[in-house]
Amino acid sequence: MKNFIRAENLRHVYKSSSGDKVALAEINFSISQGEFVAIIGTNGSGKSTLAKHFNALLLPTSGKIFIDGLDTSDEKNLWRVRENVGMVFQNPDSEIVAAIVEDDVAFGLENLGIEPQKIRERVDLALDSVNMSDYKKFAPSKLSGGQKQRIAIAGVIAMRTKIIVFDEPTAMLDPQGRREILEMVKKLHAQGKTIIYITHFMEEAAAAQRVFVMEGGRIIKDDTPREVFTDVKEMRRLGFGVPVAAELAERLRRKNFKLPQKILTADELAEALK
Ligand code: ADP
Ligand code: MG
Repeated sequence: MKNFIRAENLRHVYKSSSGDKVALAEINFSISQGEFVAIIGTNGSGKSTLAKHFNALLLPTSGKIFIDGLDTSDEKNLWRVRENVGMVFQNPDSEIVAAIVEDDVAFGLENLGIEPQKIRERVDLALDSVNMSDYKKFAPSKLSGGQKQRIAIAGVIAMRTKIIVFDEPTAMLDPQGRREILEMVKKLHAQGKTIIYITHFMEEAAAAQRVFVMEGGRIIKDDTPREVFTDVKEMRRLGFGVPVAAELAERLRRKNFKLPQKILTADELAEALK
C-alpha cells in the first residue's frame, strides 16, 4: 500500500527561553507498507525528532504526519497510532522497565488488556524470534547491551505493530551486537514489517531499500542505497563516509582500474576485479 506513512509539510519547532529551534523544516515524504527505509544525517539534523513523530511522542508544530491514514495530531487517533508503531531507541538501559526478562517483554501487552495465557504465548514467540528464550527468567541487568537491545526488540515484536522505528539501536553495541541487531531487522522486514532505521553506520543503511539523508531539519536526499552511496564525492562533501566497498572502488578507479560505476558491496567489487 502506497502512502502507508505520509508526511505533509511536517514542521517541528522546539520552543525554549533561549529561543526557538527549528528541528524539522517542512518535510514531505511517503512510505509504502513493507518498505525498509534507513535515515542518516549528522548530529542535530533532526533524525530523532522525526522518529518521535511516527508514534506521536511529538506532535507537529505545523503540517501533518499520517500513519496508516491516521492523523497523529488528532487526539482520538493516539492509541491506534501507538498500536501501529513500535519504537526501539539507542540506550537499552533506558528501555528496560521490569526486573525479569519475560515481564519486560510482556509490559506493553499487559497495558492492552490481553489475557494472561495469550500474553505468555506472545512473549515466548517474541523471545524465540530474537534468540533469547534461554534468558526468559534472567534479570535484564545481567545481560550484555546487545542482549538488552534484543529484549527491547522482543517487546516490540510481541506488540505486533505494523511499523517499527529504530533510533540508532546499535550505537552503543560492539560489532557482534550490531550484526545481530541488523539480522533481526532484516528478518522483521522479510516478515512484512515496515522498517524505519536511523543509523550512523553506512553499512547498515546500505541494507535498506531506500535512504533518507537529513541535514538541518530537511531530507536532502531520498534514493536507493546504491544511488546514495556510490556518489562518493557528494557523500564526502556532506560529511559522510560510504560503505567500504564503494570507497575502495572509487580509489581503484582513481588508479585507473576500469570498474563499473555503481559498486556498493564487497561481492560486487570482487566480481568486478575478477
Ligand atoms: P539528531 O537525532 O539528528 O541528532 P535531533 O532530532 O535530536 O537530531 O535534534 C534536532 C535539533 O533539535 C538539534 O539542534 C537539537 O539540539 C534540537 N533539539 C532536540 N531536542 C530538543 C529539545 N528537547 N529542546 C530543544 N531543542 C532540541
Ligand atoms: Mg538522534
